[in-house]
Amino acid sequence: MTRNYEVVVIGGGPVGTVALALLGHAGIHAVGIERDVDLWSQARAVHFDGETMRALQGIGIGDQVLARCRPMTNVRMENEAGETLMAQPTGQRGPQAWHDDVMFHQPEVDALLRAEVERLPGVELRLGTTLVGLEQDDRRAHCRVQNADGTSEVLAARWVIGCDGAWSTVRGLLGIPSRAWARMIRGWSSTVVCATAPGSPATWSSSATTRALPCG
Ligand SMILES: Cc1cc2nc3c(=O)[nH]c(=O)nc-3n(C[C@H](O)[C@H](O)[C@H](O)COP(=O)(O)OP(=O)(O)OC[C@H]3O[C@@H](n4cnc5c(N)ncnc54)[C@H](O)[C@@H]3O)c2cc1C
Repeated sequence: MTRNYEVVVIGGGPVGTVALALLGHAGIHAVGIERDVDLWSQARAVHFDGETMRALQGIGIGDQVLARCRPMTNVRMENEAGETLMAQPTGQRGPQAWHDDVMFHQPEVDALLRAEVERLPGVELRLGTTLVGLEQDDRRAHCRVQNADGTSEVLAARWVIGCDGAWSTVRGLLGIPSRAWARMIRGWSSTVVCATAPGSPATWSSSATTRALPCG
């Protein structure tokens, strides 16, 4: 069975959920898929910057997020001898007009993001759904997915956005290698990969983790 969308987002972590919320706010019919059924209860990230706050503001949840976060005051790193290696006053408002260093509890912010997606018409996040295959013809990309009950189906779309984290299935299926620095910090890196609309050249961006592929 094939379902059709304008965009399919792979991965329901913070990057995929923000992408889905942005699509929802833009009135674009999209579906996100997330392999896990439950939200991760443990934090990976603990800190973000003003640019992230600006993105969260863009989907309408800036104030809600800030109410659950704490801007950092001062940062000092020291060695075992207690000598200061680096000290920096933080907690200032930066160029994005938000604090540049914000501490947060990731499961709480992830839950806010998911709630925003649920609230928006035209987008949905399907949990317990795993990308297992990705092909494209001259019109659309076709994502073969496996559901939690073992059934499989195809989600077809003009665009596919891969936000499936450091061990990205999308990267694997598209044959996109990790660069040396990305391999070194695989546990930390986010990946956004797009299969794109007609006429777009296949290019690597300078950020090294983004690649656009023409799709029809
Ligand atoms: C210990 C640690 C500390 C960190 N601290 C920070 C920090 O302080 N600040 C910061 O900005 N970042 C930090 N990071 C990095 C942080 O984890 C990422 O910034 C953030 O999680 C990236 O979000 P993401 O949505 O790209 O990926 P992820 O959070 O990894 O989400 C990817 C999602 O895709 C899903 N997925 C994977 N494969 C498939 C598939 N085939 N089908 C369907 N779904 C799939 C996964 O289940 C997952 O939910 C830290 C990471 C670690 C490990």
